[in-house]
Formats: sequence, C-alpha cells, structure tokens
Amino acid sequence: MLIDSHCHLFYENLKNNLPAVLERANELGVTRFVCVGTNLEDSRASLKLAEEYEFVYASAGIHPHDAKDVEDGYLQELEELLSHPKVVACGEMGLDYFRNISDPSVQIKVFREQMELADGINKPVIFHNREADTDMVEILSKYKSVVGVAHCFSSDLRTANAFIELGYFISFSGNLTFKNSVLPGVAKLLPLERLMVETDSPYLSPAPFRGKPNEPGRTRFVADKLAEIQGIPIDIVAYKTSENAKNLFGL
Ligand SMILES: [Zn+2]
Ligand SMILES: [Zn+2]
Repeated sequence: MLIDSHCHLFYENLKNNLPAVLERANELGVTRFVCVGTNLEDSRASLKLAEEYEFVYASAGIHPHDAKDVEDGYLQELEELLSHPKVVACGEMGLDYFRNISDPSVQIKVFREQMELADGINKPVIFHNREADTDMVEILSKYKSVVGVAHCFSSDLRTANAFIELGYFISFSGNLTFKNSVLPGVAKLLPLERLMVETDSPYLSPAPFRGKPNEPGRTRFVADKLAEIQGIPIDIVAYKTSENAKNLFGL
C-alpha cells in the first residue's frame, strides 16, 4: 500500500474523473490520498471530496502564493475547517521566494499565523518551501511543538537534516525522478523513518510522464525511484512511507 501524501484533487480534470483516477491509483497500489488545500475555497473543496470518498483526506491552509489574498477572519474559517475529523493537517502553507507571487513579508506573516493556529489546535502542518531555506528553518524553530512534513522537498542535505532535527518528515515528489536532479543524492542519505512520497498532482509528473498532467497513482513511480536510490525493496518503501503518513496525519 502507498499513500499519496500530497495531491490537489479539486482541479477540474481530476475532480471530474475522480472514480477512474482513484481506480487507476489503486491498480498501482496507491490507496489513500491527502488532498491539500491552498486557500479557503480549495480547502472547502478538499473537505467536500474527503466527505465523499472514504480514502481521501483533506488539509486546510493558505499557500504562500495565495497569502496576498487573505481577508480578516481567515484564521477562524481555517480553524473551523480543521475541526472536521477528515481534515488531517494545516496547510499547505510556507514560503516561495522563487516566484514571490505574494510579497515575502506577507508570506511570512500568513505563514506564522498558520503555524500559531496549528500549534494551538495540535495539528500537523504541510509546508511548501522554495528558495527560502534560511527563513523556513528560522520560523519552524520558533514553534517547537509543531510537527509536519516538508512537501515536495527540493533543497539540500543540510536543510533536510535541519527539518528532520525539528521533527519534520521529508516528502519527495516527481522531481526526484527528473534527469540531472541532485535530489537522489540527498534522498540516499536520509533515513526512511522520516520519508514520505507524494505526487503534488496535477503538477510535477514523474518520469516517464514528465510535462503531462499528473495523477495520484504516479506516487508509485516516486516510490520506485526512492527504492532504487536507497537500494531496498519497494515493499519496504511502501510500508515505511505509509506508516509515516498514517502516524503523522492519524489516518
Ligand atoms: Zn507546494
Ligand atoms: Zn501542493
């Protein structure tokens, strides 16, 4: 069994074909799915899918790209969503200095507000980090009792170890499979006890589907790659990463 720890099933192409999408995932051994919200509207849509499909779970949060659009009261709305038993994490939240779609100061503010919320209600977080390693480690280290996962990890070994030290899991997506990626060199040196796998569907299709719309079943190709990198059987990768996701999210 594999768990796609991070996908966005509320996009039209996935949502409108969801029974078939999930069936194809099951055929590849991917049987549980965390559908991750990126703003209030998508978080509500994720919860709706989680209510409809037994093995779909939701998260609720504001992505750094969406941080610029938050309105007063958004934290109360997030908190309300997070009180639902199928909303298993707060996120995705974080920092993206690669695209800077929201001003960095706004990203930091909205990220910290959500970390405080997660801290207060004792929920794990799913964070997004792109080219913001230093600020990310600094902010995470201010909330010692919060745990979670570094989704779509794309930083260096030092940063991975800093996240692990702070109690976080590292989740790899399709970019682990890309030709010339430096990520296999990082993944090889990390303990399986702290790793998860994801698709980030509909983005980041793994090889050999790179550039095409992604779907949750392709978690399998990320897991296969991780098994190859670590030189261990796929069954062990599947078991361990699933246990990690189950324990973190309480699935
Ligand atoms: Zn992300
Ligand atoms: Zn995402």
